Amino acid sequence: MIDVARVRRAVLDRLLAEARREPRLEYCGLLAGRDGVISVVLPARNALASATAYEIEPAELFSLFRRMREERLEHLGIYHSHPQGENAPSASDLGQAYYPEAAYFIISPSEDASRPVRAFRIAEGRAAELAIEAA
Ligand SMILES: [Zn+2]
Repeated sequence: MIDVARVRRAVLDRLLAEARREPRLEYCGLLAGRDGVISVVLPARNALASATAYEIEPAELFSLFRRMREERLEHLGIYHSHPQGENAPSASDLGQAYYPEAAYFIISPSEDASRPVRAFRIAEGRAAELAIEAA
């Protein structure tokens, strides 16, 4: 069981910058990389356009996975923001986590957040926080 998410510093900076650019809506996307290190951000459209939930349409998900295959990237994570409240997994995040191997990044745009970028492994309805290592 891997309990560390290894991420390029530029990816962490970008996730936070994007969350702050659109602080009213949840934004979301996939994270990819090579050799277990996340280096690529693949933004997606939040089909729900909601401040409290997100969903990536199946067609967009399909094209993102195709792009990862074509570029020989590993799918390593999924990210979304929590414009309101704590950046910990919500009940729906726990219930809709379909990738037990992926790191789920949750970002808070709040300037007051003590840890604005957090990552979790979510499997069988339970979350375990991962340490984030800037690689
Ligand atoms: Zn959430």
